[in-house]
Amino acid sequence: MTELSQNHIQLALRTVIDPISGQDIVTNGMVSGLVIKDRNIGFAIEIDPADAERMEPLRKAAETAVLALEGVSSVSAVLTAHNNAPAARPERAAAAPRTQPASNTPLLPDIGAIIAVASGKGGVGKSTTAVNLAVALALMGQRVGILDADVYGPSLPKMLGVTAKPVALPNKRIAPLEAHGLKIMSMGLMVPEDTAMVWRGPMVIGALEQMMREVEWGALDVLVVDMPPGTGDAQLTMAQRVPLAGAVIVSTPQDIALIDARKGMSMFTKVNVPVLGIVENMSTFICPNCGEHTDIFGHGGAQAEAARLGCDFLGEIPLDVAIRVTSDAGQPITASEPGGPHAAAYRDVASAVLAKISEGSSRPAPSISLD
Ligand code: ADP
Repeated sequence: MTELSQNHIQLALRTVIDPISGQDIVTNGMVSGLVIKDRNIGFAIEIDPADAERMEPLRKAAETAVLALEGVSSVSAVLTAHNNAPAARPERAAAAPRTQPASNTPLLPDIGAIIAVASGKGGVGKSTTAVNLAVALALMGQRVGILDADVYGPSLPKMLGVTAKPVALPNKRIAPLEAHGLKIMSMGLMVPEDTAMVWRGPMVIGALEQMMREVEWGALDVLVVDMPPGTGDAQLTMAQRVPLAGAVIVSTPQDIALIDARKGMSMFTKVNVPVLGIVENMSTFICPNCGEHTDIFGHGGAQAEAARLGCDFLGEIPLDVAIRVTSDAGQPITASEPGGPHAAAYRDVASAVLAKISEGSSRPAPSISLD
Protein backbone atom coordinates (compact mmCIF):
# COMPACT_ATOMS: atom_id res chain seq x y z
CA MET A 1 0.00 0.00 0.00
CA THR A 2 1.32 3.45 -0.80
CA GLU A 3 1.71 5.76 2.19
CA LEU A 4 -1.31 8.05 2.45
CA SER A 5 -0.40 11.70 2.68
CA GLN A 6 -2.22 14.99 2.93
CA ASN A 7 -1.26 15.58 -0.70
CA HIS A 8 -2.97 12.40 -1.90
CA ILE A 9 -6.12 13.34 -0.12
CA GLN A 10 -6.08 16.93 -1.26
CA LEU A 11 -5.58 15.76 -4.84
CA ALA A 12 -8.67 13.58 -4.54
CA LEU A 13 -10.64 16.43 -2.99
CA ARG A 14 -9.66 18.74 -5.83
CA THR A 15 -12.04 16.74 -8.01
CA VAL A 16 -14.98 17.88 -5.85
CA ILE A 17 -16.54 21.12 -7.02
CA ASP A 18 -18.37 23.58 -4.77
CA PRO A 19 -21.61 24.32 -6.69
CA ILE A 20 -21.69 27.87 -5.35
CA SER A 21 -18.24 29.17 -6.29
CA GLY A 22 -17.67 26.69 -9.13
CA GLN A 23 -14.20 26.03 -7.69
CA ASP A 24 -12.89 22.84 -6.17
CA ILE A 25 -13.23 22.62 -2.41
CA VAL A 26 -9.47 22.57 -1.72
CA THR A 27 -8.69 25.65 -3.82
CA ASN A 28 -11.41 27.69 -2.20
CA GLY A 29 -10.33 26.70 1.30
CA MET A 30 -13.39 24.78 2.39
CA VAL A 31 -11.48 21.75 3.67
CA SER A 32 -10.14 21.92 7.20
CA GLY A 33 -9.03 19.70 10.05
CA LEU A 34 -7.70 16.90 7.84
CA VAL A 35 -6.71 13.95 10.01
CA ILE A 36 -5.07 10.75 8.76
CA LYS A 37 -5.24 7.92 11.26
CA ASP A 38 -3.89 4.70 9.78
CA ARG A 39 -6.27 4.04 6.90
CA ASN A 40 -9.01 6.25 8.30
CA ILE A 41 -9.46 9.79 7.10
CA GLY A 42 -11.44 12.60 8.69
CA PHE A 43 -11.93 16.21 7.65
CA ALA A 44 -14.43 19.05 7.81
CA ILE A 45 -16.00 20.99 4.96
CA GLU A 46 -16.74 24.56 5.97
CA ILE A 47 -19.98 25.92 4.59
CA ASP A 48 -22.47 28.67 5.18
CA PRO A 49 -25.00 27.11 7.61
CA ALA A 50 -27.80 28.35 5.33
CA ASP A 51 -26.50 26.02 2.61
CA ALA A 52 -26.37 22.94 4.85
CA GLU A 53 -29.05 20.94 3.05
CA ARG A 54 -27.82 21.47 -0.48
CA MET A 55 -24.23 20.80 0.58
CA GLU A 56 -25.00 17.26 1.75
CA PRO A 57 -24.37 15.81 -1.77
CA LEU A 58 -21.04 17.66 -1.80
CA ARG A 59 -20.12 16.08 1.53
CA LYS A 60 -20.98 12.64 0.15
CA ALA A 61 -19.02 13.33 -3.05
CA ALA A 62 -15.99 14.33 -0.98
CA GLU A 63 -16.20 11.10 1.04
CA THR A 64 -16.56 9.03 -2.10
CA ALA A 65 -13.58 10.73 -3.76
CA VAL A 66 -11.30 10.00 -0.82
CA LEU A 67 -12.65 6.49 -0.28
CA ALA A 68 -11.67 5.69 -3.86
CA LEU A 69 -7.98 6.19 -2.98
CA GLU A 70 -5.95 3.05 -2.61
CA GLY A 71 -5.36 2.16 1.02
CA VAL A 72 -8.23 4.16 2.50
CA SER A 73 -10.62 2.08 4.59
CA SER A 74 -12.93 4.75 6.02
CA VAL A 75 -13.71 8.41 5.47
CA SER A 76 -15.66 10.75 7.69
CA ALA A 77 -16.42 14.18 6.26
CA VAL A 78 -18.48 16.60 8.32
CA LEU A 79 -20.16 19.84 7.34
CA THR A 80 -19.33 22.69 9.69
CA ALA A 81 -20.28 26.33 9.74
CA HIS A 82 -17.65 28.82 8.64
CA ASN A 83 -17.38 32.30 10.08
CA ASN A 84 -17.54 34.23 6.84
CA ALA A 85 -20.63 36.03 5.69
CA PRO A 86 -21.74 34.87 2.22
CA ALA A 87 -20.40 38.12 0.73
CA ALA A 88 -16.92 37.10 1.77
CA ARG A 89 -16.89 33.96 -0.35
CA PRO A 90 -14.93 35.29 -3.35
CA GLU A 91 -12.17 36.54 -1.04
CA ARG A 92 -12.13 33.15 0.71
CA ALA A 93 -11.91 31.47 -2.65
CA ALA A 94 -8.58 33.14 -3.27
CA ALA A 95 -7.14 32.14 0.09
CA ALA A 96 -4.63 29.35 0.48
CA PRO A 97 -6.11 25.94 1.34
CA ARG A 98 -6.63 25.59 5.07
CA THR A 99 -5.37 22.50 6.76
CA GLN A 100 -5.45 24.02 10.23
CA PRO A 101 -8.39 22.99 12.38
CA ALA A 102 -11.09 25.61 12.76
CA SER A 103 -10.56 25.28 16.50
CA ASN A 104 -7.77 27.82 16.10
CA THR A 105 -10.32 30.48 15.15
CA PRO A 106 -11.94 32.16 18.15
CA LEU A 107 -15.29 30.39 18.23
CA LEU A 108 -16.22 31.98 21.56
CA PRO A 109 -13.93 34.94 22.20
CA ASP A 110 -15.70 36.12 25.40
CA ILE A 111 -15.28 32.81 27.18
CA GLY A 112 -12.25 32.33 29.38
CA ALA A 113 -12.04 28.54 29.29
CA ILE A 114 -14.13 25.79 27.72
CA ILE A 115 -13.96 22.54 29.65
CA ALA A 116 -15.26 19.23 28.34
CA VAL A 117 -16.69 16.74 30.83
CA ALA A 118 -16.39 13.35 29.20
CA SER A 119 -16.53 9.64 29.91
CA GLY A 120 -15.59 6.53 28.01
CA LYS A 121 -19.09 5.10 28.37
CA GLY A 122 -22.59 6.12 29.45
CA GLY A 123 -24.12 5.86 32.90
CA VAL A 124 -21.05 6.75 34.96
CA GLY A 125 -22.52 10.06 36.15
CA LYS A 126 -20.89 12.35 33.59
CA SER A 127 -23.86 14.72 33.32
CA THR A 128 -24.41 14.75 37.09
CA THR A 129 -20.76 15.65 37.55
CA ALA A 130 -20.88 18.32 34.82
CA VAL A 131 -23.92 19.99 36.41
CA ASN A 132 -22.59 19.95 39.96
CA LEU A 133 -19.14 21.06 38.85
CA ALA A 134 -20.71 24.00 37.01
CA VAL A 135 -22.84 25.00 40.02
CA ALA A 136 -19.83 24.66 42.35
CA LEU A 137 -17.79 26.93 40.06
CA ALA A 138 -20.64 29.48 40.03
CA LEU A 139 -20.85 29.39 43.83
CA MET A 140 -17.13 30.13 43.90
CA GLY A 141 -17.79 33.39 42.05
CA GLN A 142 -17.07 32.29 38.47
CA ARG A 143 -19.34 33.32 35.60
CA VAL A 144 -20.37 29.92 34.30
CA GLY A 145 -22.30 28.51 31.36
CA ILE A 146 -23.16 24.89 30.69
CA LEU A 147 -23.71 23.42 27.26
CA ASP A 148 -25.32 20.04 26.78
CA ALA A 149 -23.46 18.50 23.86
CA ASP A 150 -24.91 15.11 24.75
CA VAL A 151 -27.48 15.56 22.00
CA TYR A 152 -28.29 11.84 21.89
CA GLY A 153 -29.52 11.92 25.49
CA PRO A 154 -29.78 15.49 26.69
CA SER A 155 -30.34 15.35 30.44
CA LEU A 156 -29.32 18.84 31.55
CA PRO A 157 -32.79 20.45 31.36
CA LYS A 158 -34.14 17.84 33.77
CA MET A 159 -31.14 17.97 36.10
CA LEU A 160 -31.26 21.77 36.25
CA GLY A 161 -35.06 21.97 36.37
CA VAL A 162 -35.43 24.11 33.24
CA THR A 163 -38.14 23.52 30.67
CA ALA A 164 -38.78 26.86 28.90
CA LYS A 165 -38.00 27.11 25.20
CA PRO A 166 -35.07 29.48 24.59
CA VAL A 167 -36.20 32.70 22.86
CA ALA A 168 -34.61 34.64 20.03
CA LEU A 169 -33.28 38.07 20.97
CA PRO A 170 -33.84 41.18 18.80
CA ASN A 171 -30.33 40.63 17.38
CA LYS A 172 -31.53 37.16 16.25
CA ARG A 173 -29.24 35.39 18.70
CA ILE A 174 -30.61 32.84 21.16
CA ALA A 175 -30.92 33.74 24.83
CA PRO A 176 -29.64 30.93 27.08
CA LEU A 177 -31.82 29.87 29.98
CA GLU A 178 -30.64 30.68 33.48
CA ALA A 179 -30.92 28.66 36.69
CA HIS A 180 -28.76 28.03 39.76
CA GLY A 181 -26.46 30.86 38.69
CA LEU A 182 -25.69 29.20 35.33
CA LYS A 183 -26.38 30.08 31.72
CA ILE A 184 -27.75 26.93 30.14
CA MET A 185 -28.20 25.64 26.62
CA SER A 186 -29.22 22.16 25.59
CA MET A 187 -30.50 20.56 22.43
CA GLY A 188 -33.09 19.03 24.73
CA LEU A 189 -34.64 22.50 24.98
CA MET A 190 -34.80 22.95 21.21
CA VAL A 191 -36.08 19.66 19.79
CA PRO A 192 -38.59 17.01 20.89
CA GLU A 193 -36.95 14.35 23.03
CA ASP A 194 -36.97 11.57 20.45
CA THR A 195 -35.67 13.68 17.53
CA ALA A 196 -32.00 13.93 18.39
CA MET A 197 -31.64 10.16 18.67
CA VAL A 198 -31.66 9.71 14.92
CA TRP A 199 -29.14 12.43 14.12
CA ARG A 200 -26.02 11.62 12.23
CA GLY A 201 -22.54 12.89 13.12
CA PRO A 202 -22.43 16.00 10.90
CA MET A 203 -25.82 17.17 12.14
CA VAL A 204 -24.71 16.78 15.73
CA ILE A 205 -21.56 18.81 15.15
CA GLY A 206 -23.47 21.46 13.20
CA ALA A 207 -26.00 21.75 16.03
CA LEU A 208 -23.26 21.99 18.62
CA GLU A 209 -21.49 24.74 16.73
CA GLN A 210 -24.76 26.59 16.37
CA MET A 211 -25.36 26.32 20.10
CA MET A 212 -21.92 27.78 20.72
CA ARG A 213 -21.93 30.52 18.09
CA GLU A 214 -25.53 31.68 18.06
CA VAL A 215 -26.22 31.66 21.77
CA GLU A 216 -25.77 34.97 23.58
CA TRP A 217 -23.50 33.58 26.28
CA GLY A 218 -22.07 36.98 27.15
CA ALA A 219 -18.77 37.08 28.98
CA LEU A 220 -18.09 33.85 30.89
CA ASP A 221 -15.13 32.65 32.89
CA VAL A 222 -15.92 28.99 32.23
CA LEU A 223 -18.16 27.10 29.83
CA VAL A 224 -18.69 23.49 30.90
CA VAL A 225 -19.52 21.20 27.97
CA ASP A 226 -21.28 17.94 28.79
CA MET A 227 -19.93 15.72 26.02
CA PRO A 228 -21.74 12.72 24.55
CA PRO A 229 -20.52 9.46 26.14
CA GLY A 230 -18.03 7.30 24.31
CA THR A 231 -15.00 7.80 22.15
CA GLY A 232 -16.29 7.42 18.59
CA ASP A 233 -15.87 9.69 15.56
CA ALA A 234 -18.49 12.21 16.69
CA GLN A 235 -16.75 12.73 20.02
CA LEU A 236 -13.36 12.98 18.37
CA THR A 237 -14.59 15.55 15.86
CA MET A 238 -16.20 17.56 18.63
CA ALA A 239 -13.02 17.52 20.65
CA GLN A 240 -11.26 18.87 17.56
CA ARG A 241 -13.80 21.52 16.67
CA VAL A 242 -14.37 23.05 20.08
CA PRO A 243 -11.44 25.13 21.37
CA LEU A 244 -11.17 23.25 24.64
CA ALA A 245 -8.97 24.40 27.51
CA GLY A 246 -9.05 20.84 28.78
CA ALA A 247 -11.08 17.76 29.57
CA VAL A 248 -12.32 16.27 32.82
CA ILE A 249 -12.79 12.51 32.59
CA VAL A 250 -15.47 10.96 34.80
CA SER A 251 -15.09 7.32 35.74
CA THR A 252 -16.52 4.88 38.25
CA PRO A 253 -14.05 2.82 40.25
CA GLN A 254 -14.74 -0.45 38.42
CA ASP A 255 -11.89 -1.70 36.31
CA ILE A 256 -14.01 -1.91 33.20
CA ALA A 257 -15.03 1.73 33.46
CA LEU A 258 -11.41 2.65 34.00
CA ILE A 259 -10.50 0.99 30.75
CA ASP A 260 -13.13 3.19 29.11
CA ALA A 261 -11.74 6.22 30.93
CA ARG A 262 -8.36 5.45 29.38
CA LYS A 263 -9.97 5.45 25.93
CA GLY A 264 -11.57 8.82 26.77
CA MET A 265 -8.21 10.22 27.74
CA SER A 266 -6.42 9.01 24.66
CA MET A 267 -9.13 10.59 22.50
CA PHE A 268 -8.24 14.01 23.93
CA THR A 269 -4.49 13.54 23.87
CA LYS A 270 -4.82 12.53 20.20
CA VAL A 271 -6.14 16.01 19.40
CA ASN A 272 -3.76 17.74 21.83
CA VAL A 273 -6.42 18.75 24.32
CA PRO A 274 -4.95 18.59 27.83
CA VAL A 275 -6.64 16.16 30.19
CA LEU A 276 -7.18 18.15 33.39
CA GLY A 277 -7.66 14.95 35.34
CA ILE A 278 -9.99 12.13 36.40
CA VAL A 279 -12.96 12.33 38.79
CA GLU A 280 -13.97 9.10 40.51
CA ASN A 281 -17.76 9.08 40.70
CA MET A 282 -19.88 6.64 42.73
CA SER A 283 -16.79 6.09 44.78
CA THR A 284 -17.93 5.04 48.26
CA PHE A 285 -21.56 4.06 48.93
CA ILE A 286 -23.10 5.97 51.81
CA CYS A 287 -26.10 4.14 53.31
CA PRO A 288 -29.06 6.52 53.55
CA ASN A 289 -30.31 4.71 56.68
CA CYS A 290 -27.26 4.20 58.84
CA GLY A 291 -24.66 6.43 57.14
CA GLU A 292 -22.24 3.50 56.85
CA HIS A 293 -19.63 3.77 54.09
CA THR A 294 -19.24 0.74 51.77
CA ASP A 295 -16.97 0.43 48.74
CA ILE A 296 -19.41 -1.40 46.45
CA PHE A 297 -17.41 -0.92 43.27
CA GLY A 298 -14.05 -0.86 44.95
CA HIS A 299 -12.48 2.43 45.78
CA GLY A 300 -9.45 4.41 44.71
CA GLY A 301 -9.21 2.75 41.28
CA ALA A 302 -9.37 6.07 39.47
CA GLN A 303 -6.77 7.63 41.73
CA ALA A 304 -4.38 4.75 41.17
CA GLU A 305 -5.06 4.85 37.43
CA ALA A 306 -4.51 8.62 37.29
CA ALA A 307 -1.17 8.16 39.04
CA ARG A 308 -0.21 5.38 36.65
CA LEU A 309 -1.12 7.48 33.60
CA GLY A 310 0.61 10.56 34.99
CA CYS A 311 -2.55 12.65 35.01
CA ASP A 312 -4.12 14.47 37.93
CA PHE A 313 -6.77 13.02 40.20
CA LEU A 314 -9.38 15.72 40.69
CA GLY A 315 -11.37 14.13 43.50
CA GLU A 316 -14.00 11.55 44.35
CA ILE A 317 -17.77 11.80 44.67
CA PRO A 318 -19.58 9.21 46.81
CA LEU A 319 -22.48 7.09 45.60
CA ASP A 320 -25.36 8.58 47.55
CA VAL A 321 -29.03 8.44 46.74
CA ALA A 322 -29.28 12.13 47.74
CA ILE A 323 -27.20 13.01 44.67
CA ARG A 324 -29.60 11.13 42.39
CA VAL A 325 -32.77 12.39 44.04
CA THR A 326 -31.73 16.07 43.93
CA SER A 327 -30.58 15.60 40.36
CA ASP A 328 -33.88 14.04 39.31
CA ALA A 329 -35.75 16.90 40.99
CA GLY A 330 -33.85 19.56 39.03
CA GLN A 331 -32.13 20.79 42.21
CA PRO A 332 -28.47 19.72 41.98
CA ILE A 333 -27.05 18.92 45.40
CA THR A 334 -24.45 21.69 45.16
CA ALA A 335 -27.31 24.21 44.92
CA SER A 336 -29.85 22.56 47.23
CA GLU A 337 -27.43 21.56 50.00
CA PRO A 338 -24.47 23.89 49.48
CA GLY A 339 -23.26 23.40 53.08
CA GLY A 340 -23.30 19.58 52.87
CA PRO A 341 -20.44 17.13 52.38
CA HIS A 342 -21.32 16.36 48.74
CA ALA A 343 -21.26 20.01 47.73
CA ALA A 344 -17.86 20.19 49.44
CA ALA A 345 -16.64 17.24 47.37
CA TYR A 346 -17.76 18.94 44.14
CA ARG A 347 -16.15 22.21 45.29
CA ASP A 348 -12.86 20.35 45.75
CA VAL A 349 -13.13 19.11 42.18
CA ALA A 350 -14.00 22.65 40.99
CA SER A 351 -10.98 24.13 42.81
CA ALA A 352 -8.69 21.50 41.29
CA VAL A 353 -10.12 22.26 37.82
CA LEU A 354 -9.64 26.02 38.25
CA ALA A 355 -6.06 25.48 39.37
CA LYS A 356 -5.39 23.30 36.33
CA ILE A 357 -6.92 25.85 33.93
CA SER A 358 -4.84 28.73 35.24
CA GLU A 359 -1.76 26.51 35.05
CA GLY A 360 -2.46 25.84 31.38
CA SER A 361 -3.66 29.32 30.36
CA SER A 362 -0.27 30.23 28.94
CA ARG A 363 -0.41 27.15 26.72
CA PRO A 364 -0.81 27.76 22.94
CA ALA A 365 -4.17 26.95 21.33
CA PRO A 366 -4.68 23.23 20.70
CA SER A 367 -3.82 21.90 17.28
CA ILE A 368 -4.40 18.56 15.65
CA SER A 369 -1.59 16.05 15.61
CA LEU A 370 -1.23 14.08 12.41
CA ASP A 371 0.02 10.53 12.51
P1 ADP B 1 -24.07 9.79 32.33
O1 ADP B 1 -24.12 11.27 31.98
O2 ADP B 1 -22.66 9.30 32.51
O3 ADP B 1 -24.86 8.91 31.42
P2 ADP B 1 -25.76 10.51 34.56
O4 ADP B 1 -25.09 11.70 35.12
O5 ADP B 1 -26.99 10.69 33.73
O6 ADP B 1 -24.72 9.60 33.79
O7 ADP B 1 -26.05 9.53 35.80
C1 ADP B 1 -26.69 8.28 35.64
C2 ADP B 1 -27.56 8.03 36.86
O8 ADP B 1 -26.73 7.91 38.01
C3 ADP B 1 -28.51 9.18 37.18
O9 ADP B 1 -29.71 8.63 37.66
C4 ADP B 1 -27.82 9.96 38.27
O10 ADP B 1 -28.73 10.65 39.11
C5 ADP B 1 -27.10 8.85 39.02
N1 ADP B 1 -25.86 9.31 39.66
C6 ADP B 1 -24.80 9.90 39.10
N2 ADP B 1 -23.83 10.14 39.99
C7 ADP B 1 -24.29 9.69 41.19
C8 ADP B 1 -23.77 9.62 42.52
N3 ADP B 1 -22.55 10.08 42.80
N4 ADP B 1 -24.56 9.08 43.50
C9 ADP B 1 -25.79 8.60 43.21
N5 ADP B 1 -26.34 8.61 41.98
C10 ADP B 1 -25.60 9.14 40.98
